[in-house]
Amino acid sequence: MTTDVTALPPGAAATSAAAVIALDVGGTSIKGAVETADGTIDSRMEVPTPVADGVNAVVSTIVATIEALRTAASPHLTVVSVGIIFPGAVDRAAGVARYSANIGWRDLPIRRLVADRVGLPVGIDHDVRAAGLAEARLGAARGVDEALFVSIGTGIAAAVVTGGSVVSGADGMAGELGHLPVIPEGETCACGLRGCVETYASAASLARRYAAGAGTPPLPAEDVIAQAGRGDVIAQRVFGEAVVALGRALVGYIFVMDPSLIVIGGGMAAAGSALTGPLEAEMERSMVWRQAPPVVTSELKGDAGRRGAALVAWSALDTSSPQSGAHDNASTEDQT
Ligand SMILES: [Zn+2]
Repeated sequence: MTTDVTALPPGAAATSAAAVIALDVGGTSIKGAVETADGTIDSRMEVPTPVADGVNAVVSTIVATIEALRTAASPHLTVVSVGIIFPGAVDRAAGVARYSANIGWRDLPIRRLVADRVGLPVGIDHDVRAAGLAEARLGAARGVDEALFVSIGTGIAAAVVTGGSVVSGADGMAGELGHLPVIPEGETCACGLRGCVETYASAASLARRYAAGAGTPPLPAEDVIAQAGRGDVIAQRVFGEAVVALGRALVGYIFVMDPSLIVIGGGMAAAGSALTGPLEAEMERSMVWRQAPPVVTSELKGDAGRRGAALVAWSALDTSSPQSGAHDNASTEDQT
């Protein structure tokens, strides 16, 4: 990664630093950034995801965003790879989006489609698993081998961290904690099951369930939690049910995997101890014969996804040779 020094005037900087493009593709927008090895953002942009225009339009927008970020990068930076993260079932090893309801993808070889057009190594991963990877490498679970990262926002999903690596699962669907059915005969979830954690404990569900109970327009989840703290009976009931649902899912996970730390990320993490305190108490109460691990909130906060996408990009440098496609170590190699 050095520039042609013969073209530089005497005394000018002769070195070029490597950088990656981190791309977080959601159903609403594509957020991209050029990031250096130490996590500094050089440039960033956000464009709408043209889901209604079809698969080709979304892929073209991704390619155009990468090209625009490459052009916008500072002259001393050389973009060496791209990391793309998105929700759904992600086959990271094959580079294929198996299914993403939000973006309209099914069995799309997104890694090859983008790599062929931008001429750079490309890595892909699930958005929450990438955020969990970042939290495990750089954030609240740094140095912790056994942890669970739970992203609570519009929905709920988790990254299972074991042995310091994030688990993808057989079909790229590990970590769907939000769809554990924990309330028997409970409310019907968008997924078709009843009593899913997500139906009670996501930020969207808290807002919706409070509005239904109070007969008011939806309040943001953090306001519902704050109202519960002020003695609002409906907010206390709705938040209490959310804590029970989430607590049951976490207790199940703890008994199976024995993590030493649980990290809450996503928008709900902003509630801080108003969320983690009741959650720890609920888990403690229901575990009886063993202690629950501490529950903390994300250190990387809103940057977790972007930092994770950058880690995926750095890993793509190691897996871009034709022989290396068979092994899947994007989440296990330390790039920093
Ligand atoms: Zn569900």
